[in-house]
Amino acid sequence: MDLFEKCRNFTRADEARAAGNYPYFIPLQDTEGTEVVVNGKRMIMIGSNNYLGLTTDPRVREAAIEAIRRFGTSCTGSRFLNGNLAWHNELEQELADFVGKEAGIVYSTGMQVNLGTISALIGRGDIVITDRDDHASIIDGCRLGFGEMRRFRHNDMAHLESVLQSCEGKPTLVVVDGVFSMGGDIAPLPEIVQLCKKYGARLMVDDAHSMGVLADGRGTAAYFGLTGETDLIMGTFSKAFASIGGVVLGSEDVIDYVRHTARALMFSASMPPAQVAAVHAALKIIKEEPERTHRVLEIAERMREGFSQLGFDYGNSQSPIIPIYIRDDQKTFAFWKALFEAGIYVNPVVPPAVPPEASLLRTSYMATHTDAQLDRVLDTFGRVGKSLGII
Ligand code: PMP
Repeated sequence: MDLFEKCRNFTRADEARAAGNYPYFIPLQDTEGTEVVVNGKRMIMIGSNNYLGLTTDPRVREAAIEAIRRFGTSCTGSRFLNGNLAWHNELEQELADFVGKEAGIVYSTGMQVNLGTISALIGRGDIVITDRDDHASIIDGCRLGFGEMRRFRHNDMAHLESVLQSCEGKPTLVVVDGVFSMGGDIAPLPEIVQLCKKYGARLMVDDAHSMGVLADGRGTAAYFGLTGETDLIMGTFSKAFASIGGVVLGSEDVIDYVRHTARALMFSASMPPAQVAAVHAALKIIKEEPERTHRVLEIAERMREGFSQLGFDYGNSQSPIIPIYIRDDQKTFAFWKALFEAGIYVNPVVPPAVPPEASLLRTSYMATHTDAQLDRVLDTFGRVGKSLGII
């Protein structure tokens, strides 16, 4: 059989396109953060991870432009060999100091942080334990390692304990999302830290959605006052930090080991200068203007209240990610399409990204959303939700 047979038999995307229900790879003709233009039409964006609205901040833009003027557009190589700028090292130390860890490594994407770091640490005979709702990059990082992988039910501490019990005596790493990317709920770190201590396991927290957001930007561990007890903290620059790239922070010995063994770091070109400069500028703003992190959390609170009054189910959201559970694939697509036509940009999430009964519309907010935009979002959700019989 021809290798490409499976591609010819792949009809799901075409069927959705034919039905006018295809919600992926939508070409944005323009974007200013809270609003985007699609097919010539201006829409309110509540499907982005630009939590602080910094992608268009003049200070961040200028820093990126200035970096291109000084260094050009690329480092054309891995940090390990020719592509390491003094700026990369400085950014690592600045992020480590900000979050409260000894050292850090920046990679070119957040995905690569998880691929490289987890696979470097989980060797033969080691065990990695993940939450069932952990991000795909964590799962893939575990698959790349030579150790064994086990999972526990989402945020279920009794299940985590039984999995840890079954691993006792073996070198073990527990990896959880700090804020879960679809549910917007926060991992119960106090219990997780306690269990890791009890069973001698190490802990890594993926703070992609919380670094730059929770605890004045210092992330989930700081939110619980557990930065010292969390062995490794990773973050991405593609969300609150208005750039692309990622970082893992921890103790100097562990970070130095990862620096010399993580293949996704060593065999991939480094973050371009403009991206490093954008993160640096965003970090300065986060330090000087923590009110931005407060504003996005206030907006989230206000939207949860609004959705709740309308009769929507937002699960356990505690962050600027607010899922609206529809729990039916066809209704989720119908709702997505009606919102899209009404000028509201959200992301439909259906299996396999979530369990079959958990189809949802993922909404997420920015510190720069205006009250008028948020009112329009709630009005439209109410109107469309009623007309489709969802509320
Ligand atoms: N971890 C989590 C929890 C994420 O949500 C994402 C991206 N959506 C990543 C890691 C990967 O980050 P990046 O997009 O920067 O590669």
